[in-house]
Parts: sequence; structure tokens; C-alpha cells
Amino acid sequence: MSGKNISGKELSALEKSKIAEKVKRLNSEGIYPKLSVIIVGENPASQSYVRGKHKDCAECGIISENIALPESVSQDELLSEIDRLNGDETVDGILVQLPLPRHIDEYSVINRISPEKDVDGFTAVNVGSLYLGKDCFTPCTPQGCIDLLDFAGVEIRGKKAVVIGRSNIVGKPVAQLLLQRNATVTVCHSKTKNLAEITKKADIIIVAIGKLGFLTGDMISDGAVIVDVGINRGRDGKLHGDADYETCIEKVSKITPVPGGVGLMTRVNLLKNTVKSAENRAKNA
Ligand code: NDP
Repeated sequence: MSGKNISGKELSALEKSKIAEKVKRLNSEGIYPKLSVIIVGENPASQSYVRGKHKDCAECGIISENIALPESVSQDELLSEIDRLNGDETVDGILVQLPLPRHIDEYSVINRISPEKDVDGFTAVNVGSLYLGKDCFTPCTPQGCIDLLDFAGVEIRGKKAVVIGRSNIVGKPVAQLLLQRNATVTVCHSKTKNLAEITKKADIIIVAIGKLGFLTGDMISDGAVIVDVGINRGRDGKLHGDADYETCIEKVSKITPVPGGVGLMTRVNLLKNTVKSAENRAKNA
């Protein structure tokens, strides 16, 4: 590892200790932050992500509940479960682990979650609020990218930022957050022509496409900052990002490693949003 790495490990540890303090304070006021996670089916990757979420909650004193539903669950049954959690005053955050089985409409399910408990920030209400610059639950991964830039002392204002990828959960919201921080933002995708010409002019590059080693050193300028969101399993069995670390490290001023970068911040921001929801509950009590 190099001194150019922006350590998600270090930042997530710092943030977790702050979260644990906040939870203690809330507990002393009789508020016990709680996250409910719904998982449908037996997808091993989803199960592993969910286990990680429960472990993180336990570390910070947040109560977490696992609601495992069979692959065959009907959409109506899933919606009723969300309704029940929406009405449960002890539940601060509701998360439906994606992807859902094909017979279930993801949009309808996500939008059934009360926006006040939507700690993933995926409901249309929270997405709309993000775009309007209103207070909301910011989605965890895009916020994690910004947190890492701030942690590394990277100035965002006035910088040329290029986002590669335009998914609803990463590319589009991270572009919006960069815009709010006064970057000049270009969003690229699979139909973008001459991508390298665009990335070579960027001060900050956020890459989120799911293609191992896609962004190579010859596509960036000296001193660029790379935030690598990608998580790809290599032939070596290890996790790798969307940036080709070996060729990029020579030229970047900063880069987030994979693993040990954005992924850890995604996890922390879920905890932060859950505590924020519990704090709102405390205010309204
Ligand atoms: P999606 O598959 O939803 O979106 C991929 C995006 O990449 C699309 O916008 C697509 O363009 C674009 N793309 C694909 N190929 C190219 C290309 N050759 N050139 C330019 N753009 C391209 O992925 P996600 O946003 O959900 O995830 C992206 C990566 O981030 C994955 O590796 C995922 O595992 C990881 N991830 C990591 C998280 C973390 O916590 N670290 C959290 C979430 C995701 P188009 O729209 O034109 O199809």
C-alpha cells in the first residue's frame, strides 16, 4: 500500500467510534436505534452483505433485526411486512436487500418504505430531495465517496470531476453530490465516445462500472484523484476495483484502494443514517 491511498479503514474506524458515542447518548434518553433488514431468498452475496450490516450495527450498539423471507414470497406479503415496519415506532431504519426475485417489482417495494425510515436513501422522495438540495438520507455509497475525498483533504469546489457510470445507486447521485459541492461534473457511461479524452482532463475521477481494471494509468492525468467504487472478483480470487491500481498509482495524487476504500464507507453511512433517523425520533418524542 502507498501513502497515496485514502484509507477507508481509518475513516470508518473514526466514524464508527463517533456513531457509538451518539448511540450511547440516545440510549441515555431512552432511544434505542434499530435497523430492520429484509432479505428475500438465499443469494449468498446478499446474505454475506446482510451479515456485515448486522455485525456493524452490533459494533456500534445499534439494534438490528433480520427478516428473512423465502424466494417464493409474494409482492403483497413483502409490502405488508414493510407496512408493519413503517408502523413500528421502535424501528428507525428499514433496508430491503437488493436484488429482489424477478417476480417482485423493486421500485414498488422500495417506495413502500416510509421516507423517514429509508436509510438507504433509495425512495423517490429521498432521491428527489437530494436533487433539490433538501435535507434527506443521502445514499450510502455516493456519500462515502465524498467522505473519502474530504478525509483526504481533496478540494472539490471548482474541480473538474468525471463520474464513470450512471446507475441510480452510485453514478447519478454521486454526480449530484459533486455538483452540490461546486465541482464541474461530467457523467460518462457505456455510450460515451472517446472516454479517455474526457478522463485525461479530470482532476477527480469516480469510477463505478463493475469492470475490473477498466481505468488504466494512460487514461488519467498526473496528480488526478481516483475514487474507485468497483468491486470485482479477480481470477486470483481477490477483490479488485474498476481502476487498474498498478498503472494508476504511478500518476495519481490520491486513490481509494479496493478493498479498504469506498465499501467500508458504504457500511458506515448506513449506520450514520440509522442514527440520524433515531435522532429525528428523539426530537419528535
Ligand atoms: P450498474 O451495473 O448498475 O451500472 C454500471 C454503469 O457503468 C452503467 O451506467 C453503465 O453504462 C456503465 N458502464 C458499463 N460499462 C462501461 C464502459 N465500458 N464505459 C463506461 N461506462 C460503462 O452498476 P452499479 O453502479 O450498481 O455498480 C458499479 C460497481 O460498483 C460494481 O462493481 C459494484 O459492485 C460496485 N458497487 C460498490 C459499492 C461499494 O460499496 N463499494 C456499492 C455499490 C456498487 P450504461 O448506463 O450506459 O449501461
